Formats: sequence, C-alpha cells, structure tokens
Amino acid sequence: MTTRHAACSCGQLHLTIEGEAARISMCHCLACQRRTGAVSSNQARFRPEQVTFTGKATTWSRTAQSGNVVTFNFCPTCGSTVYWESESFPGYVIVAIGNFADPNFPAPTVSVWEESRHPWLSLPRNTPPKRMAKQG
Ligand SMILES: [Zn+2]
Ligand SMILES: [Zn+2]
Repeated sequence: MTTRHAACSCGQLHLTIEGEAARISMCHCLACQRRTGAVSSNQARFRPEQVTFTGKATTWSRTAQSGNVVTFNFCPTCGSTVYWESESFPGYVIVAIGNFADPNFPAPTVSVWEESRHPWLSLPRNTPPKRMAKQG
C-alpha cells in the first residue's frame, strides 16, 4: 500500500496517509484563493482511518455558500493549512495536495467553481469543469 506524508512548512504538523484518495479536486472559489494565497486550492479526500495525525493544529471554521461548515486545521507556528473537514463531505479528511510536496501526486479529476477560475490557469487533461454558483 502506498504511504504518503503531508506536512506544513515548518514540519511540526504532519500527516502519514496509507492508500489512495477517494477523490482529488481543484477549487477556484474566491474563499479558497484567499485561504491559500494561491489562485486555486488543490486537495485530496481520505477516510480518517487512513490518516495518522502528528503535531499541533489550530482550527478555523467558515460557513460555505452551501450553508455547510468547513473547519480548517493549520499549523500555529507557520500558518500552513494542511487538512480540513467539511460538513459537505462527512467522514472524510481533506488534505491540501501541495503539503505532500510530491510532484508525482495524482492529478485532480474534478474542477469546481470554474466561474472564478483565473483564465490563464488551464486544467489537467480530462478534468471536467464544474460551475457551482447555481447550486447556492
Ligand atoms: Zn508549521
Ligand atoms: Zn473553494
């Protein structure tokens, strides 16, 4: 089974993950742009039993447009958001792909909030774009 490691910038908040992700996606919503400081958020969804958590995390929650609460876990020292949970996807831990620091991590297969995608950012091949705003 594949074992992967995700960590914050300073390394104290560290996840060890066994097996493959249930879903890998990218999100272009403005809230993700603000949170990451990047033009899109890229994340992989795992079952909690696949994940071993090490280190300290500070949490921050926000209510998404859907009305569901998303709780982000970030390193209190370096501020890097490593993982989060969403009421939209109960029973999953969502991990930021960048925190794996692994260019061979599998590509996203879903792209959401296309209406606020920076137009110069192209998608991985065979990734269906999805507009979200109408779902409210
Ligand atoms: Zn850190
Ligand atoms: Zn988003």
